[in-house]
Amino acid sequence: MPRVRIYNTEAIVLRAGPLGEADRLLTLLTPGIGKLQATVRGVRKTTSKLGGHLDLLTRSSLTLAKGRSLDTITGAEAQETFPLVKGNLERLSRAIYLTDLVDSLCPLEAPNPPVYTLFLDGLRALEIEADSDLLLRYMELQLLSLSGFLPELQRCAECHGQLAPSQHLWSPIVGGVVCPACSASRPGAANLSLNALKVVRFLSTATVSSATMVRVSASLHRELAAIMDAYLRYTLEREMRSVAFLRSVSHTRAYVGAPASREESEVATGH
Ligand SMILES: [Zn+2]
Repeated sequence: MPRVRIYNTEAIVLRAGPLGEADRLLTLLTPGIGKLQATVRGVRKTTSKLGGHLDLLTRSSLTLAKGRSLDTITGAEAQETFPLVKGNLERLSRAIYLTDLVDSLCPLEAPNPPVYTLFLDGLRALEIEADSDLLLRYMELQLLSLSGFLPELQRCAECHGQLAPSQHLWSPIVGGVVCPACSASRPGAANLSLNALKVVRFLSTATVSSATMVRVSASLHRELAAIMDAYLRYTLEREMRSVAFLRSVSHTRAYVGAPASREESEVATGH
């Protein structure tokens, strides 16, 4: 008999795909092992007892058996299922985007407990907070920081000089904010307003609850989304597939005229 090593962990399901006739291959985020791929045997059969405990975005307590290449999930019990996120297309599109972000920034089996805590905080915030574009910007900055990719926000990324309180430039290639004096050497860099700089600085050090309290104008929302999108595309060297889904859901919302509750109130971060 081969020796079986059993271990327990909690995990959030990031991705699930079919494997053979009846099995599934799951990508999980765990606190202690980091991102992990594992198989579930027979879970696609209707008789499987594990199925509902291993849905996408569900936090479960798992029992796994070590395998030669992939570990196998032998037991699962759902702990948190995020029903409001899963039942609302807008929240779901944001959660899938966050999942994609975590999946893209985390290498396999590299333990990073703060990333797990942050991801869980993000899902919990989505569960209670429906209008949450700034939550996405917060999560992007925090995940970049925990992965070692935080853009330079405090000094000019080119000359390392102090930044005066004025308009600057945003250059993913240089690695963050670029001062006006260095702008000539960086054609094509985007403009970065002082308010946008204030918000990203604030979000890079805020807690999730303070981040979701911030209110900014619609135009500042667009500017923040654009600079973070440019930075992530450069860092990941691609556009994540979930971005198109997120955009199509947001456009549908704009088209049907959902309430724009934060229209044109100026940024009030206190920073
Ligand atoms: Zn400079």
